[in-house]
Amino acid sequence: MLQERIEQIMKEGRESLATVSTAADFEAWETRYLGRKSELNEILKGLKDLSPEEKRLIGPLGNRVKQELAAAFAVAKETIFERNIDWEAERIDVTAPGHPIVPCGHLHPVTLIEHRIQDIFLSMGFSIADGPEAESEWYNFDALNFPKDHPARDMQDTFFIRQEKKSQHRFVPRTHTSGVQVRYMEAHKPPFRVIVPGRVFRNEATDASHEHTFHQFECFMVAEEGMVTVATFKHVAETFFSAFFNEKVSVRLRPSFFPFTEPSFEFDISCVLCGAQGCPTCKQTGWLEIGGAGMINQHVFESAGYRRGQYQGFAWGFGVTRLALMKYRISDIRLLMSGDLRFIRQFQQ
Ligand SMILES: [Zn+2]
Repeated sequence: MLQERIEQIMKEGRESLATVSTAADFEAWETRYLGRKSELNEILKGLKDLSPEEKRLIGPLGNRVKQELAAAFAVAKETIFERNIDWEAERIDVTAPGHPIVPCGHLHPVTLIEHRIQDIFLSMGFSIADGPEAESEWYNFDALNFPKDHPARDMQDTFFIRQEKKSQHRFVPRTHTSGVQVRYMEAHKPPFRVIVPGRVFRNEATDASHEHTFHQFECFMVAEEGMVTVATFKHVAETFFSAFFNEKVSVRLRPSFFPFTEPSFEFDISCVLCGAQGCPTCKQTGWLEIGGAGMINQHVFESAGYRRGQYQGFAWGFGVTRLALMKYRISDIRLLMSGDLRFIRQFQQ
């Protein structure tokens, strides 16, 4: 009877060991078959009560089964971890795309507009020029025919850079991109057509439509006397704005005054928000004020070393920032420089 029971324990133990898969099951199996209070151990403890014949039979058999189960347990313990692995889940697909851990940046809305403007002008045969953001007072004002007492030089409109040494010229964070005009003329001989996108700075109180730092672009075209006229400017401006807004845009000129152009104009474009029908943005006029323009003053050509009357050309400029506000219907200019990612991320393409 006992002999049969021991053989059954052996069979059961081996069978259940093959199905053990978790650490908890494993522990339970050990307690049940090898533990101090296991059935097998109880049998071996009761040997002393058996007859000498039974002792001779049951003792060695019980011990052998105990050793065999312990050995099987040791082997199973070594392979348990391998058995637990879900090989399908562990399979590595080396061709799978990775997980983006670092979020990718993207272009700022003003940069997107700047690129769009550059593309249009490049398609019209213009070159792109660049200039320093810290500009000498000469290029920023004097060379452009600003009188010494011009209000634009006032501390209230212009930031000045503190300089240790009194050099010939004071430097200012440029108040417009026009300073590049004379720089470019000094290095090139007409005819040329150029745009200058860039960041400019004004000592200004900020509100929803004014910012101390913003982006402008300058456009100028110069050739022999008589080749470039006001009509040329009007055509270039209409072509540009029509391409930019993807619709026919008209340009209107109103007389104005700037030191570096003669004659000078303010120019408006037909309102792209209402199709020139009249809306709150254009104050029901159907026109939007966009920027200033004019025929380059001969004094400016003289600053660049050109002979008076030899060349003729137009120059105009306006705010890229202004255009970005219009294009994206942004109500507060200060959002653009706020560094607020919730705002900036809307322009991810
Ligand atoms: Zn309108």
